[in-house]
Amino acid sequence: MSQKKCPICSAPLTTAEFKPFCSKRCADVDLSRWLKGGYAIPGRPSDQADEVPGGPDPSDA
Ligand SMILES: [Zn+2]
Repeated sequence: MSQKKCPICSAPLTTAEFKPFCSKRCADVDLSRWLKGGYAIPGRPSDQADEVPGGPDPSDA
């Protein structure tokens, strides 16, 4: 059994182009899941924006 399946939709892989996914669509789905899981910090509200001024200070040059 060398047939691999897509971890997203369980379809048999017909191309290695988007390995290990069956298509770019499924690759994008996995990527978005990964990004959400990696950057989202549970239990912390995102309204604490005053600790970051917004960018480098132009008067420093
Ligand atoms: Zn798929």
